[in-house]
Amino acid sequence: MTDEREILPEAFIEKMRRLLGSEYGAFAASYSQGRQYGLRRNLQKGTEQDFIRMMPFPLEKISWAREGYYYDAVNQPGRHVLHEAGAYYIQEPSAMAAVTALDPVPGERILDLCAAPGGKSTQIAGRMEGQGLLVANEVIGDRAKILSQNVERMGITNCVVCAEKPERMALLFPGFFDRILVDAPCSGEGMFRKEEAARREWSPEVVQMCADRQALILEEAAKMLKPGGMLVYSTCTFSPEENEGTISAFLQGHEEYSIEEIACKDLFSPGRAEWIGQPVPGIEHTLRLWPHFLRGEGHYVARLRKGRETGLWESGQKEPVRDKKLCKLVGDFLTEELELEAGWLESRPGQLLRFGEQIYLVPEGMISLSGVKVLRPGLHLLTEKKNRFEPAHALALSLDPQKVSRTKILTEREAKAYLRGESVACQEERGWLLLVYEGYPLGFGKASGGQIKNHYPKGLRKNL
Ligand code: SAM
Repeated sequence: MTDEREILPEAFIEKMRRLLGSEYGAFAASYSQGRQYGLRRNLQKGTEQDFIRMMPFPLEKISWAREGYYYDAVNQPGRHVLHEAGAYYIQEPSAMAAVTALDPVPGERILDLCAAPGGKSTQIAGRMEGQGLLVANEVIGDRAKILSQNVERMGITNCVVCAEKPERMALLFPGFFDRILVDAPCSGEGMFRKEEAARREWSPEVVQMCADRQALILEEAAKMLKPGGMLVYSTCTFSPEENEGTISAFLQGHEEYSIEEIACKDLFSPGRAEWIGQPVPGIEHTLRLWPHFLRGEGHYVARLRKGRETGLWESGQKEPVRDKKLCKLVGDFLTEELELEAGWLESRPGQLLRFGEQIYLVPEGMISLSGVKVLRPGLHLLTEKKNRFEPAHALALSLDPQKVSRTKILTEREAKAYLRGESVACQEERGWLLLVYEGYPLGFGKASGGQIKNHYPKGLRKNL
């Protein structure tokens, strides 16, 4: 048994006692129970049935996210070939609720404003089924790189990854998005059970600093939503200042926004109006996820709708015509050397973009990228090297192996060797091959004289 007083900051205990009253005992007891572990199936890859059959350890469904499962920590899913293949994403169970509330729809324009490391962005992408535009933004450069890697690993085709301040994003995308997620930086109280660092860094001053910063971020996010659009705000903290307080203050300054009820309410507890000075009506329809009520850590989720009274904003930018010459060069390489189905490129919407030596397919609907720090302008297709092309790793992970003729099915031993950067034996004499494990593409290799030269990116190689 862990006594919560041994691990939690004293001022935090006092505050939670005051807020929770008679419920405090149950809350405190949750700190002596083990934390819960979750992973999320990649909705863009295969069926649920195949996924369950292929997973080498038992899974149990999480009720508030249709793609979410509990697993037992001894199974270490992060050290498995299927993880590198993007079959699933490891994510804390309660963290999956925000995207359930956001309810993304294929074909929409969606912004994830505070996106690294990418748990929620990759969940949104799964629900968008590759259709529409997802902009995943993370202000801290090093964290944006991890976000970009996760977008690649999950084989996402319609995501632009940026590393900008919210205020710069707001200048570029006024009234642009159908849905926006603000998973705000917060004091992290909901993670105290699983993260020692969150406990160490906490203080009442940090809570206030976070609340001030959340107000600024929400202000910028609000500018980017279309009239009629939906904004979901979430945190992983308990402090009312950062939850009901932030939302109430925002709504008092924005009459065009209102709280919208979240359908799976019975699973959660309502927002607490009495905990803050000036609650807005409807704050009880925002949600709190408590570790003593459900199998997950602490979270808060509010769903807001922007009124329709103003007209729809249009960027005025026309979808540019594709560069025919580049299109032909890329199309020929994809069908002749990779042997993708004829018309693969033509059937995909979006623009081809040359970025130095790199060629990307920018998702349809994306506006000009000038003036934005962009890490990934869309699906990375090819790298041009001395007048020849090499297929990009992101392209491999985005492909459906059943639609690719030049594949090589790997055993687990071969897959692990490939992930270490080793070459693998093959029967083909020459040419590019998509390497596939259990139905999931792992990357490309190039056959030459009975061996596949390894093209798994050096920075990703690992010993599993
Ligand atoms: N949504 C992410 C996920 O599911 O993986 C987690 C996001 S985390 C709670 C909040 C993010 O906001 C952090 O990556 C942090 O770097 C970023 N952030 C910090 N300061 C910020 C600011 N002033 N504006 C926008 N984002 C900020």
